[in-house]
Amino acid sequence: MKIIRKLAYWTGCTFFHGERHNEWQCPNKKCGMPISEDYSNCPYCGQKVKFAYPVKAKVIEIRNNGG
Ligand SMILES: [Zn+2]
Repeated sequence: MKIIRKLAYWTGCTFFHGERHNEWQCPNKKCGMPISEDYSNCPYCGQKVKFAYPVKAKVIEIRNNGG
């Protein structure tokens, strides 16, 4: 099986102790778990991921879309 590295979804960022932390989501539709940019693959489903910052990185409101 060929493993394709997918781009993680950037869901927003938070500030924690004055540091900016980006939040990412697994690109696997069957998974969609929040992941850390420390990972090179999703710890939940094993999907290989890569991280690319949005072109215009800015603080966005983090919304709960109700799952
Ligand atoms: Zn996953």
